[in-house]
Amino acid sequence: MTLDLTGRVAVVTGASRGIGYFIARELAAAGAHVIAVARTVGGLEELDDQIKADGRGQATLVPLDLTDMPGIDRLGGAIHERWGKLDILVANAGVLGVISPIGHVEAKTFEKVMTVNVTSTWRLIRSVDPLLRLSDAGRAIILSSNAAHSARAFWAPYAASKAAVETMMRSWAHETQSLPLRVNAADPGATRTAMRAQAVPGEDPDTLPHPQEIARRIVPLASPDLKETGLIYQAKHNRFVTYRQPE
Ligand code: NDP
Repeated sequence: MTLDLTGRVAVVTGASRGIGYFIARELAAAGAHVIAVARTVGGLEELDDQIKADGRGQATLVPLDLTDMPGIDRLGGAIHERWGKLDILVANAGVLGVISPIGHVEAKTFEKVMTVNVTSTWRLIRSVDPLLRLSDAGRAIILSSNAAHSARAFWAPYAASKAAVETMMRSWAHETQSLPLRVNAADPGATRTAMRAQAVPGEDPDTLPHPQEIARRIVPLASPDLKETGLIYQAKHNRFVTYRQPE
């Protein structure tokens, strides 16, 4: 069944490249108006050009550093003023930090990972939760990672940040389960992006799925028909799980 998101308003963070870029494109291709958030204006403009070329949906570009917490609050206010609701939130922006023994991680690196991956996700949820509740079918998708459960050696800051956002997602889903709002996490699995190249530099990127393929699997979580809430969608296996087993 083709996904129709005509008239739906979506926020996508980290829309300047990688998985977020393609999620934004796919949402627009389904008819949504995408509010695209990231720091890199060039990447956002490229997204806008591409959405125009695709010929469906629209984009509003929001150059914003997600460490700017009052900026996140203002974003919610601006969406309220212009649309009076939000239908879709894709909290995708993230940073890896460093792959390193835990005792060698610098304080500023740890704090950055927590600020971008965890605190800004909470702040964004706080900013748009009232708007998602005003939608007839609010959908929230929080990007997570298998690292949250595998607790792989040397990945501690990133793994801990993803465990934190998954738990936040589940609490939020419990709070909202009697509402139309559906809240889930999405684990893309290893994907051909800049972050993956930073994490595993020796890997041949051609062995990994393209972010467009992964985005196409994740975007159906924005469907008004979605029933699931409080779950983790593993794109690699195309399945929902409650607690993921390490692979
Ligand atoms: P990329 O590094 O390719 O893209 C990250 C995006 O986040 C960019 O658009 C970047 O935009 C944005 N971003 C980073 N920091 C900030 C900030 N301070 N303010 C605003 N935006 C920011 O990553 P991926 O596409 O690979 O990852 C997307 C999500 O998927 C992440 O949450 C990641 O943890 C998760 N994931 C990825 C996997 C993979 O294999 N690729 C596997 C498992 C999970 P800009 O720099 O322009 O601000």
